[in-house]
Amino acid sequence: MIELHPNVVSLAYLIAAVLFIMALRGLSSPESSRTGNYCGMLGMLIAVTTTALGPEVESYGWIFIALGIGAVIGIAIARNIAMTAMPQLVAGFHSLVGMAAVLVAGAAFANPGAFGLVAPGGEIYVASRVEMALGAAIGAITFSGSVIAFTKLQGLVSGAPVSFKGQHPLNALIGLAIVGLIVYFCFDQQPAVFWTMTALAFVIGVLIIIPIGGADMPVVVSMLNSYSGWAAAGIGFTLGNDALIITGALVGSSGAILSYIMCKGMNRSFFNVILGGFGGDSSAATATGADDRPVKQGSAEDAAFIMKNAGSVIIVPGYGMAVAQAQHALRELTDELKDEGVKVSFAIHPVAGRMPGHMNVLLAEANVPYDEVFELEDINNEFQTTDVVLVIGANDVTNPSAKTDPTSPIYGMPILDVEKARTVLFIKRGMASGYAGVQNELFYRDNTMMLFGDAKKMVESIIRNL
Ligand code: NAP
Repeated sequence: MIELHPNVVSLAYLIAAVLFIMALRGLSSPESSRTGNYCGMLGMLIAVTTTALGPEVESYGWIFIALGIGAVIGIAIARNIAMTAMPQLVAGFHSLVGMAAVLVAGAAFANPGAFGLVAPGGEIYVASRVEMALGAAIGAITFSGSVIAFTKLQGLVSGAPVSFKGQHPLNALIGLAIVGLIVYFCFDQQPAVFWTMTALAFVIGVLIIIPIGGADMPVVVSMLNSYSGWAAAGIGFTLGNDALIITGALVGSSGAILSYIMCKGMNRSFFNVILGGFGGDSSAATATGADDRPVKQGSAEDAAFIMKNAGSVIIVPGYGMAVAQAQHALRELTDELKDEGVKVSFAIHPVAGRMPGHMNVLLAEANVPYDEVFELEDINNEFQTTDVVLVIGANDVTNPSAKTDPTSPIYGMPILDVEKARTVLFIKRGMASGYAGVQNELFYRDNTMMLFGDAKKMVESIIRNL
């Protein structure tokens, strides 16, 4: 068996760490995201290979079996997963990271000698006890929290917040008990203390995610991503693996920063969300049906006529565009409109769709030029001077009740000011509400025309009429 010199191992881990940082840097913009992905993959290959060649690995049989099973499952999921199901997939993956952390901590606790954690007196080093307790606790919270997020996002249980009397005092009590047991464990390495602490962490993971409503779910997924990173970092200390510590810290901190940015984007309090919706809006995601007021309904022919005669058109894509896979047809439509001399741009809301960057990825897949795609803060002032806005499968991100109705679950979320344009065209199948379950007042406005139908079919029909 090849055995690497410790200096070579350190150097390889350093190179892997630099590649991970370059991956994060690359993923910060659509143009460089592919390169970022390749950097991440190369970094992970170097890190895993280096670890596998380390002195503590005695045989490769089980490693190859695990790698084979993991690779088959990973490739199958990556090939078949719908982009719209990505958030629950990510939540599912985080649950595995959490469970891995619990299992490694549990194994290290059960057989500390195998991990080199036994002090001369026969006890586990105190520092190791802290690391394994933190790894197990954060891992358990990540696991059960991610499973609940998965079931909510997958629609296996209702996405509505679940709250009960005394919820926050109970959470606080369990939180304090976990901290107390970790401290106690540092003085006395009783199995009962370790396993009770781990069990309570599983319970608190469920309790902090159930009160979080649909509109806050993207933040939760990103926050669980952060937790999974910290769990991995804790386990990195137990295993004495620098690459795992660095990777865990990168995932932990970047997930926390992304959550913070998303909270700002949705005008939610970061601490309310991470503490399990403490003081949050319990009315979130309460569905309200369409009322009987008439709406102005148009056809693909009307839409083609209006857009062809416009000077400028802004397209606002949302979740429905992803469901219908309308991005390629949309690209064709923009080409046709540009040929007619119409200025076309895209406006992307930070939480449009079902995951951060969802719309950017789909538009990039359809080769929509990056310089035609604008973020909310860069385009929001343009709507008032725009002739036509084509909202395709988006709903919540255009809902003005976020600005005007303090009782709305999305109140305070910055929205795209589409209603300021001269004409607003909405492509959707009916009058159903969006993810947050609130009716959109815009559908009833004088300058709105509803184009009822599947997003892709409607766009194809508009193209034919152009
Ligand atoms: P949305 O508010 O969920 O609305 C999507 C609309 O698309 C629905 O009203 C639906 O109406 C329509 N639709 C569905 N399938 C369609 C199809 N085949 N053709 C045409 N229309 C279709 O979407 P959004 O405006 O993009 O807002 C995103 C929401 O998701 C926000 O509330 C956000 O907080 C939440 N969220 C975001 C993320 C993220 O990270 N981006 C993650 C999780 C949740 P019909 O049924 O009438 O067609």
